[in-house]
Amino acid sequence: RVKNNGKGSAAFFDASMEREALARMKIEQSLRLAILEKRFCCAFQPKVDIRTQEVKGIEALVRLRDDEGVIQAPGTFIDLAVELGLIDELTLLVLAEIVKSIDLINDTFGPNATISINVAAKQAANSEFMRTFARALEDTGYARRFMIEVTEDAFITKSHFQDEILPILRNIGVGISIDDFGIGYSSLSALADITADEIKIDRSFITDIHKRPRSQGILRAIESLSEALGMTVIAEGIESYEELTYLQAATKIRFAQGYYFAKPIFLEDLKPATPVASETRASLAARPAQEN
Ligand code: C2E
Ligand code: MG
Ligand code: MG
Ligand code: MG
Repeated sequence: RVKNNGKGSAAFFDASMEREALARMKIEQSLRLAILEKRFCCAFQPKVDIRTQEVKGIEALVRLRDDEGVIQAPGTFIDLAVELGLIDELTLLVLAEIVKSIDLINDTFGPNATISINVAAKQAANSEFMRTFARALEDTGYARRFMIEVTEDAFITKSHFQDEILPILRNIGVGISIDDFGIGYSSLSALADITADEIKIDRSFITDIHKRPRSQGILRAIESLSEALGMTVIAEGIESYEELTYLQAATKIRFAQGYYFAKPIFLEDLKPATPVASETRASLAARPAQEN
């Protein structure tokens, strides 16, 4: 519907903007409703020791069950949740689900597996929320099991994350992980000023690593710096045997995550009729799993 008012294209633009605004409002509404109705669940993806195939830890990856019951990946709603100020509530829901499932998590992945929760950089910069979150982690009684994954921008934005929040988290035993390392704005040398326990190399460097000399060089640089700084390195997004073989043969990287080992898993899909035998725990990561 284009009004012939002498600025037809402008009117057309208005109409499409209106449609866009309406679509956005719909998404906003359904996100608010989903939070009210707690229609979120977590999938858990193991972090695997590539030498022994043992599960070192798991990462909670949130999923949304939309009003039609379809599972949505976080790519469709995390940014919006941050923008709308709903992300803090969502993070607390993730923690609540972990707490509720802790026995099953222990049975499946072992009682020492670390449990990682993603925190958006904007949340990390919100000291008030982070203090609340730290208290909630402490109240579980097993704060030492938890790790927080933040992207490198959480460290470089002007916030009190590094000087105020990190010491609180460390004090209660929560580990810090730098997510998606290498694609943010900080330089490699900025790493030297960051206090973290773990660094996760972004999937973009890992894809086809065996065929890409430039990525191999970057990997070596991150690896030696991390080693000097005492950080554990995790390779994200291993999908193939070739990628794994390269890591094993050419690097000292010991931990990885990726579809090759296991896709994110819903715990209810694992819930056994009888208790999980301990020997199936460690081998769980060895077989490629399917996310349903
Ligand atoms: P991330 O923390 O970097 O998580 C890794 C993402 O890569 C996950 O996508 C995971 O399913 C996917 N992935 C893992 N292995 C492979 C692989 O081998 N190949 C490929 N192609 N992908 C792989 P997912 O679950 O869609 O999550 C996307 C992002 O959403 C996460 O990236 C994280 O930044 C964010 N996110 C997830 N859950 C939460 C949460 O509870 N809170 C916040 N703030 N952000 C979250
Ligand atoms: Mg992550
Ligand atoms: Mg990542
Ligand atoms: Mg990512």
